[in-house]
Amino acid sequence: MGLNEYDVIVIGSGPGGFTAAVRAAQLGAKAALIEKSLIGGTCLNFGCLPTKFLWQSLKIKQKIQKSYEYGFKANLEPVVFADIAARKDKAIAGIRKGMIAVLSSYDIDVIEGAASFKDRNTLAVLGAEKKEIFKVSADKIIIASGAIPSVIKGFVFDSGKIINSTDALNLKEMPANMLIVGGGAIGIEMATIFSGFGCCITLAECENCLLPNEDREVSEEIRRNLLRQGVEVLVSCSNALDQADKYEKVLIVTGRTPNSDLGLEKAGVKTIKRGFIETDEFCRTNVSNIYAVGDIAGKNLLAYAAQNEGAVAAENAIGKSSIAVDNSVIPQVVFSMPQSSSVKASDFLRYKDVIFGKFPFAASGRAFIENERAGFVKCAVDKTTKKPLAFWIVGSHSDELINIASQVIKSSAEQISRGSIFHPSFSESLFNAYEDAFDKCVELTKKSGN
Ligand SMILES: Cc1cc2nc3c(=O)[nH]c(=O)nc-3n(C[C@H](O)[C@H](O)[C@H](O)COP(=O)(O)OP(=O)(O)OC[C@H]3O[C@@H](n4cnc5c(N)ncnc54)[C@H](O)[C@@H]3O)c2cc1C
Repeated sequence: MGLNEYDVIVIGSGPGGFTAAVRAAQLGAKAALIEKSLIGGTCLNFGCLPTKFLWQSLKIKQKIQKSYEYGFKANLEPVVFADIAARKDKAIAGIRKGMIAVLSSYDIDVIEGAASFKDRNTLAVLGAEKKEIFKVSADKIIIASGAIPSVIKGFVFDSGKIINSTDALNLKEMPANMLIVGGGAIGIEMATIFSGFGCCITLAECENCLLPNEDREVSEEIRRNLLRQGVEVLVSCSNALDQADKYEKVLIVTGRTPNSDLGLEKAGVKTIKRGFIETDEFCRTNVSNIYAVGDIAGKNLLAYAAQNEGAVAAENAIGKSSIAVDNSVIPQVVFSMPQSSSVKASDFLRYKDVIFGKFPFAASGRAFIENERAGFVKCAVDKTTKKPLAFWIVGSHSDELINIASQVIKSSAEQISRGSIFHPSFSESLFNAYEDAFDKCVELTKKSGN
C-alpha cells in the first residue's frame, strides 16, 4: 500500500463487487466496500433471488394442487400473497446476513454511502443517513455499481401504476391485472410468477417472438407454456403502452441502464454506449489502477458473469497476475414454468456442418416419476468431430442441467460416455439428445428411414 488508506476499494456490493472485495482480501489486500443501498446489490435484493423465491413458491403451490397424483389428499387454503412476500423478504434478509458475515470474517471495511470519484485514487462518500461527505483513497479501485431499470420515453416509474422490476418484486398484494412490456427473461419470469398467483397478465414484446435472441423452438415452447398458464402473449407489438389505461399495473422491463453517475470524468474513466464503462478482457478500464466489473461494464448482464469478472479484477489488481475473463461458455436460464436454458460454444456460428439431436422429457423415466414430463433437450453437434456445441433445454431442473451441459460442451466426443451418468436422472436426457444427433438414442423409437 502506498500513501492511500486501502489497497483496494470496491464500489457496489452486488455479485461483482462482493466477489471482488472478498477475493482481494483473500489475496492479502486491505479492502473496503462502499454500498449506497442494501448489501447484495440487485441480484440479492431486487433480482435473481427474490424472483427465484417467488417462482419456487408458485412451484410449491402447484405441487400441492397436484399432490393427488401421488395419492395424497391435500387442500390448498386460499393463497395470501402478503404472507409469501413476507417469507421472501425473510429469506433475502437471511442471505444478506450471511454475506455480511463473510465480509466481516475477511476484515473488509463496509462503508455505507454513495461513492463518487474525486481523482483516480480518491472517492468522496456521501453517507446515506448523515448526508456527510468524507474521502477515502486506495491504490486500486474496482467499480461494480451495476445497473438500474431503463425507462421508456414519456413514462415515469411512480411505484404506483407504472412500475419497474424492483417495484414488482416489492408488491405485497396481487393486482387484478397487469401489462408487462418486454418479452425478455425478466418479463417472462414476471409473467410466469404473477399469472401463477392469479393476476391476469398481458405480456407484450415488440420483436416477433419472445426472447428474440434465443432458439426459435425454445421461445415457441415458452410462449405455448405461458398461453397454457392463461397469459396473453402479444408479439410484434410496439404500441402496447397505448392501452396502459386498461390495466391496474404496467410493468416495464425493457432493459437496464448503467449506474455510471460516479464522477467518472474526474478520474478520466472512459464510457461507451449508454454510459457503460469500457473494459478489456482483464477488466481494466482505460485508467491503469481502475477496474470495472459486472453490469456496469455492460458485457453480460448476469450475476455469475459479474462474479467471474469480480474475481478476475481482484486477482489482476492485487495479485501479480494477468488473468483474462473466460467467456467461452455462458449458460442462459429463464425461470418460465418449466424453466428454459441454453448454452452455446462461443464460436458456435463458425461450425458449418452441424447436426441436431432432441430428446423429449416425456421419454425420460425420471421425468415420469417426478411427473415433470413437459419439454425437451435439444443438442447441436459438429458432424465431423462429434463435438457437442450447444444445448437448449426446456423442462424441470433445466436450470441445473444447463451447468452440466456447459461442462459437456467443453469436452471432446471421447469424454462423453453413458457409463458415468446416474440412472434414473434428468441428466441422462443430455446424453440421449446427444446420441439422437447420430440416430443412436436407444430410448427413442426407431426413426422412419433407419
Ligand atoms: C428481476 C431481475 C432478475 C434477475 N435474475 C437473474 C438471474 O436469475 N440470474 C442472473 O445471473 N442474473 C439475474 N439478473 C441480473 C443480475 O441481477 C445482475 O446481472 C447482477 O446483479 C449484476 O451484478 P453487479 O455486481 O454488476 O451489480 P448489482 O447487483 O446491480 O450491484 C450494484 C451495487 O452497487 C451499488 N451502487 C451503485 N452506485 C453506487 C455508488 N455510487 N456508491 C455506492 N454503491 C453504489 C448499488 O446500490 C448496488 O447494490 C436479474 C436482474 C433482475 C432485475
